[in-house]
Amino acid sequence: MLETAQGAIREAAQRLGYDEQTIEALLEAEAEHVFEIEVNGKKYPAYRVQHNSKLGPFKGGVRFHPHVNIHEVRALATLMSLKTAAVNLPLGGGKGGIAVDPRLLSREEVEELARRYSRHLAPHIGSARDIPAPDVNTNAEIVDWMVDEYEKTLGKTDKGSFTGKSMSNGGSEGREAATGRGGVITLVEYLKARGLMDKPLTVAMQGFGNVGYWFAKVMRDYPNLKLIAVSNSKHTWVQPDGIDVTNAVHVPSGTPRPEALHDTQSTTAQPSDLITSLKADILVLAALEDAVTEANVQNVQADILVELANGPISKAAEKTLSNRKIDILPDVIANAGGVIVSYLEWKQNLAGEHWSEAEVNRQLEEILVDATDAMLKRAADKDLSLKQAAFELALERLLA
Ligand code: NAD
Repeated sequence: MLETAQGAIREAAQRLGYDEQTIEALLEAEAEHVFEIEVNGKKYPAYRVQHNSKLGPFKGGVRFHPHVNIHEVRALATLMSLKTAAVNLPLGGGKGGIAVDPRLLSREEVEELARRYSRHLAPHIGSARDIPAPDVNTNAEIVDWMVDEYEKTLGKTDKGSFTGKSMSNGGSEGREAATGRGGVITLVEYLKARGLMDKPLTVAMQGFGNVGYWFAKVMRDYPNLKLIAVSNSKHTWVQPDGIDVTNAVHVPSGTPRPEALHDTQSTTAQPSDLITSLKADILVLAALEDAVTEANVQNVQADILVELANGPISKAAEKTLSNRKIDILPDVIANAGGVIVSYLEWKQNLAGEHWSEAEVNRQLEEILVDATDAMLKRAADKDLSLKQAAFELALERLLA
């Protein structure tokens, strides 16, 4: 992932005429914090990479996962710098994590881990310096513990030091739906620009977690878009008449439950990997990285791909799709809804305000429509792919 990210940055920077020294300097992180946290006699490697703060404080999630390592955290921090720049936020890029399987820990141990992580990093983070957020296996409760520990350690109140907090602790309306909603905003803006919004279009979607569920739910606002297939890691559900996701959540937790699609809409469950080869106008990739690679790219039948996961299309597959004139809405813009609402949470905290969901969604839409339009214009002006255009715009801001 690090190589792919750095390769795309090098390519765009060389096209823009930047010299090697400037490019290498951009790829270097400003700071890397590598340490160990001990809980109940066990030691866990912990990381925070602060990649680039040219545009504002570092911003990026903290994940708890056994596979977390410095290379992954570096790659994700680098991508975050690109993403915040691509959507023109006054924020930089960072990422953090602890190499741990939180399922093997008690709730008290997870809390201790979170608190020690925050205490160690307290001198290096904060609303004006670096603003962490939840990521894989971390959530509002864990972030609330981290904020509390951060504030106790430094003896001051600073709710803008983290985002993704619970609502009672300064969190923002609209955060849960933000990434899926942002994907729809980007797609619709692209379809409008291509004159396709008054045409009936079919959509197949890989991944039915938080992002996929909200994408499908928000997409219902656009009657010309029909969801005809959904998959998760086990199955693909196909229903040519259209799938309504409303009932496909656990009540009351709201956790997506795609199995409900089988019960409620007589869809047939088929193998998971079918999804990428289905005939649909639009293929939305909302599961994980490298979902489309050299191994399956030949089977893709969609005309438009949307990257809601980070890096779901490998470099080689991207080339093949580009040769076939298939447009890819790139992750740095299509899945930036989450970081944009994080930015709006931070702004609310700094101003001591709490905005309505409608206001948050309005600002989210404004930022993403501007970013998508700029990407489309750059791609058209210079005959670039949408990803190349988004990377160029981001790099120009980072290297201005
Ligand atoms: P999630 O864990 O809630 O859901 C992931 C979904 O992908 C699940 O339905 C899972 O079954 C499915 N999946 C896993 N492996 C699969 C496979 N091989 N084939 C088909 N489906 C598979 O995660 P999420 O929060 O919805 O995030 C989805 C992706 O979007 C991740 O790559 C994440 O890094 C990225 N992302 C998330 C956010 C956010 O705000 N949550 C922001 C930006 C990017």
